[in-house]
Amino acid sequence: MENLTAAELINIAKEFGTPVYVYHAEKMKEQYEKLTHAFSNLNSRIFYACKALTNINILKYIRSLGAGLDCVSINEVKLGLLAGFTADHILFTPNCVDFAEILAAKELGVHINIDNISLLEQFGNKFGSGYPVCIRLNPHIMAGGNFKISTGHVDSKFGISIHQMRHIERVVKSTGLHVNGIHMHTGSEIKDINVFLMGLNVMLDMAEQFPALEFIDLGSGFKVPYQMGDYETDVDELGVNLKQAIDNFEKKSGKKLQVWFEPGKYLVSQAGYFIVKANIVKQTPATVFAGVNSGFNHLIRPMMYEAYHHIENISNPHGTPRIYTVVGYICETDTFAWDRTLPEIKEGDFLVFFNAGAYGFEMSSNFNARLKPAEVLMQDGKPKLIRRRDEFDDLLRNQIID
Ligand SMILES: *Cc1c(COP(=O)(O)O)cnc(C)c1O
Repeated sequence: MENLTAAELINIAKEFGTPVYVYHAEKMKEQYEKLTHAFSNLNSRIFYACKALTNINILKYIRSLGAGLDCVSINEVKLGLLAGFTADHILFTPNCVDFAEILAAKELGVHINIDNISLLEQFGNKFGSGYPVCIRLNPHIMAGGNFKISTGHVDSKFGISIHQMRHIERVVKSTGLHVNGIHMHTGSEIKDINVFLMGLNVMLDMAEQFPALEFIDLGSGFKVPYQMGDYETDVDELGVNLKQAIDNFEKKSGKKLQVWFEPGKYLVSQAGYFIVKANIVKQTPATVFAGVNSGFNHLIRPMMYEAYHHIENISNPHGTPRIYTVVGYICETDTFAWDRTLPEIKEGDFLVFFNAGAYGFEMSSNFNARLKPAEVLMQDGKPKLIRRRDEFDDLLRNQIID
């Protein structure tokens, strides 16, 4: 799949203004199909982890591809239903929520993933075997690109420790809970497929304790490349290895298991482009700053995770290479990239951040009373506005003015 061209992106910037997020539908489709192809030998289901990007138009598009939806809040569940996902295609995987939120999800009829003993007990006491649940386990595997996005290690708040198996058994036994799945999600940006295989083995070892088990949910953490020479998780090889492990299990136990996945970043990261305009080029004794009409209020990943986002100057792609520190307009240190070689930037040039589909707009805020950007979906070569840019009045919405 070709990237969107500089000409296409410049047209969008001119038509809809900047800053603007652009999502390329066909790229999401390509990524989805890579996964379905890699796992075609398994009995598998894919649930898009929508916390990466929840614009309802994106949800509808991903539903049209055939995916289900993984939600971490009751509001994501409601957005999913609005987007046309049926309850059977929605999986609710919250952490540290009030029992009331689990009850609300149960009322909506979606799959529920429970990640602590106290809620498991409450759920079992209330519903017994009347409503199936999946249990989120913490396999104590250190994985992921950055400590902030690692969720399966021993210090993590996620899941129920595999060392609490005995306690889980007690709760299941005394309440009669119907456990139809077990789940793990060990982090984001996992390069090494052995992490998934180790996790699967840990869970297959536990499968015997749950006679009603129908599926194992391996979560996600599929990595996509953010820069030249960077890795993408080898999902084909993962598919082959998973098939082997599941086959062995099925032969030994006589049981059949589905394998579920919850990709977020893998489906939408590379489909996203964030276009900004260079407001200022500023020479200091130390560097040359390119100051753009955006900041970590719109794209927080560089400041939050030290994430690398590839940048191009689409207004002057063949200009003389120069070294810039690309910064935002927020009144706090707000750096997108240090010492980045880019074609010479003039004030007014459009710059594009790549891989902006996942955790880009979704983590944006109105910090500094800045307006959130517009979002555009590019499908069949045609750009369509899917969120209008914030207006000044949006800043006052919900404020009480006497
Ligand atoms: C965030 C999250 C995902 C998706 O992670 P990615 O790295 O974006 O693929 C999947 N499952 C759960 C439970 C999550 O919290």
